[in-house]
Amino acid sequence: MSLEVISNSKEMTAWSIRQFGSGHSIGLVPTMGALHRGHLRLVDEAALGSDKVVVSIFVNPTQFGPNEDLEAYPRTLNEDIQALAEQGKAHAVFAPSVREMYPLGVNKTWVFVDQLGDYLCGASRPGHFRGVTTVVARLFAIIQPTKSYFGLKDAQQFFILRRMSIEMSFQVELIGIPTVREVDGLALSSRNRYLNAAEREQAVALSRSVSEAKNLIEHHGETKVEKLIEAMKAELAGITLGVIDYVEIVDGENLQPCKVLTPGMSVLAAIAYKFGKARLIDNSISLVP
Ligand code: AMP
Repeated sequence: MSLEVISNSKEMTAWSIRQFGSGHSIGLVPTMGALHRGHLRLVDEAALGSDKVVVSIFVNPTQFGPNEDLEAYPRTLNEDIQALAEQGKAHAVFAPSVREMYPLGVNKTWVFVDQLGDYLCGASRPGHFRGVTTVVARLFAIIQPTKSYFGLKDAQQFFILRRMSIEMSFQVELIGIPTVREVDGLALSSRNRYLNAAEREQAVALSRSVSEAKNLIEHHGETKVEKLIEAMKAELAGITLGVIDYVEIVDGENLQPCKVLTPGMSVLAAIAYKFGKARLIDNSISLVP
């Protein structure tokens, strides 16, 4: 199967219109590249649910804070195209330049979702989600996908984008895909490549911590958030090579903190942890019995 690589937004839109003209649906997988098995799983799902699959690869400057890793973020476009060609499920790669996505230079038009970004990554990365929603809105306008696939590793991002899409009346269905993990549990991430061997070994505690929260909520009847956070932090206690950014439990509906869990509630237990310049996140979503 041939994989078209498109960098111009008008050409991208024309490609989509041709697909619709032939009666095809389009599945979009937005990424920042440095593709790993987690991204490729989203592509697999997109191929199952849509006739044609587009993978966008764009390191979006407006979602990085001034002291974050925008410059250092891995850019591996040729390898990414190679990996997608080998997988054989994607039909087009949309890899625009910064100028293509921000054609007038300094950006003046933003899409912002209120409140859902107040805590977790929204609190520790001011402006991050405004950059994400703005660029994804633009990708939706250019590509006009029928469905779009996102990883639940970035659960807060998924909930924010879903809200945006409904409230902006984008004609696209958003689909959240469970986190793909290494054998020991570490969530796959483009930023894992920043870890040295010792940090990599310790980083597995993140997945243990979020799965312990899920276990306590779903199988041990724990409803006190304070106790849950204590248990999550206890799992992280053995890490000596990094610092906690946040360990939090929020209501899965509005992403606001809560003190006591009630039956039927969905709950997001989330962690961000910094190992040097690698800021890793993980989470679990539970349903309170
Ligand atoms: P990124 O390139 O980091 O912006 O990620 C692009 C998409 O891949 C986002 O929807 C992520 O949530 C998703 N993703 C990243 N890592 C994983 C993973 N380990 N499992 C599933 N989805 C992932």
